[in-house]
Amino acid sequence: MVIKTANFICSNTQVSALPPAVMPEYAFIGRSNVGKSSLINMLVNKHGLAKTSQRPGKTQLINHFLINESWYIVDLPGYGYAKVSKTSREKWEKFIRAYITKRESLQCVFVLIDSRLEPQQIDLEFCYWLGEKQIPFSLIFTKADKQGMNVTVNNVAAFKKSLSQWFEEIPATFVTSAEKGLGKDDVLHFIQEVNKD
Ligand code: GDP
Repeated sequence: MVIKTANFICSNTQVSALPPAVMPEYAFIGRSNVGKSSLINMLVNKHGLAKTSQRPGKTQLINHFLINESWYIVDLPGYGYAKVSKTSREKWEKFIRAYITKRESLQCVFVLIDSRLEPQQIDLEFCYWLGEKQIPFSLIFTKADKQGMNVTVNNVAAFKKSLSQWFEEIPATFVTSAEKGLGKDDVLHFIQEVNKD
């Protein structure tokens, strides 16, 4: 898919204030610092569209970016930032869970996972919750340029193995590097195919 236009539309702190659910949308989520903003910018070829390296956990916003005037990328606030207070974490949970479970135009949640790490409980639990709610999701392993491919392959395999205790079918999996442009075409192709349905 060729990205012709990518524009920031709005930031929201309330599900009730989201734009009308009339176009397909794809949400991106993961632990703070996983490389979500960098990945979004890579996908749309626009440096600085999603803000990189903001202080993690500071703003809890749902950002909508309109792509090719026909679908949305939705940037969700990161989870798992240790310095965030319990109250703020609970607020995040309520907000994000409401968005994910109620948004009719949501086609797929991309769960971003740091490819350098062995399976993390917080990521597995989030996937489990998506499964429980029957929300379609895919896995994106980020920052693959940071280590040898064999480490990435082992970590991806270990994550899938952990998921297989709960899921009969393992979701689509992508390995990416925002630094090298790796995985971009695969993710965009996947979105294009879902948009066709
Ligand atoms: P976010 O908090 O999840 O939005 O993460 P960012 O996109 O801000 O990235 C966090 C840090 O990781 C920044 O210093 C990025 O430059 C770095 N980073 C993100 N993606 C990659 C990648 O694919 N490769 C490398 N080497 N660094 C990355």
